[in-house]
Amino acid sequence: MFWNAFVPVLLAAIAWPQAGSDPQPAQGSIASEPAKVHDLRVPTHLEGLDLVIPAQERLVFYVELDVAVLGKIRVGSLVITSNVEEYRAGLPRRGERAEDQPFSQRGFIQAKAAGGYMGYNVEHEINARILPQEWPRVIVHDYQSGSENRRREVMYGTRQGKPMSWYRRDRHCENCERREHFVSGLFSDAKHCEGCKRAEHRDWDAPVMQPIPEGALDMISAIFLARELVRTQTGRVDFPLLDKETWWDLSMVLGESAFIDTPAGTFACRAVKLDPRPPKPGDDLNEFKGLFGIHGTLSIWLDEATGVPVMIEGLVPLGPMNLDVAIVLAEYQDTPVGFKPADPTR
Ligand SMILES: [Zn+2]
Ligand SMILES: [Zn+2]
Repeated sequence: MFWNAFVPVLLAAIAWPQAGSDPQPAQGSIASEPAKVHDLRVPTHLEGLDLVIPAQERLVFYVELDVAVLGKIRVGSLVITSNVEEYRAGLPRRGERAEDQPFSQRGFIQAKAAGGYMGYNVEHEINARILPQEWPRVIVHDYQSGSENRRREVMYGTRQGKPMSWYRRDRHCENCERREHFVSGLFSDAKHCEGCKRAEHRDWDAPVMQPIPEGALDMISAIFLARELVRTQTGRVDFPLLDKETWWDLSMVLGESAFIDTPAGTFACRAVKLDPRPPKPGDDLNEFKGLFGIHGTLSIWLDEATGVPVMIEGLVPLGPMNLDVAIVLAEYQDTPVGFKPADPTR
């Protein structure tokens, strides 16, 4: 079937150097030790809790939908990679000193989902760059292509001492003179297209800059913070979760322990529940689409020793229904020492 055939092709297409397979320098050349990059620790507003970006890590997940009649269907894959690299920011702005910067490296997290179901196909990529500067501290690009095309960009950080965000999205162009936006009907002259899913008919909206609450984080950062919740055994944290131009009050709560079976093995895990509350009473919680369209409460199962995410569970809307979706670990590379399948019989 389409979605089963699709996944191996996709996985094969994503080339990535294997751990320990660095090519040897050619004879006669000078072998230089690559600079050792460490995990990046970014302070947050939460007491005793840093956001930690692994220096180099790759996690591959399968995305499975639970369809009542058909059972579990694999509809795609999600690849989460993270990297840390040296970052040379520009000269400090007026009133800022270089030594005020809390860290000097740049963190890069990429979450790339791809898949399809019943003729609908999607490639969805969310990138978060975490930078050692006040503004922007974080840049998030959220790009979807395939059957539907959508681009969103968020930046946040501190400007003149105030927490701020910048947001822009694209939408179908409503009217312009560009001939490439014109379509002609069978019995009509060419006129401006009134709405389609073509990426090339979309334009950026004017960006919105606004004050945000102190300590707000984006969804990708929140998932990486969940790792630290497990590692440090922190019971619960609350912070504003930035989602496009708005934010939700998010509680992240450390939950039960369980062995979780995945294609990559069985892991001893702790659950972390991400529970969003609407910013205004009466707002519709279904509007919350935190990650790849998953809405409402999100459960993440993370390895209890290292905090590596092993399974993500939630609901996705499909027409009038909600379907259970599970994102389960299939492969891992360059994970922290100590991340390994557990022996559930011990
Ligand atoms: Zn146009
Ligand atoms: Zn169009």
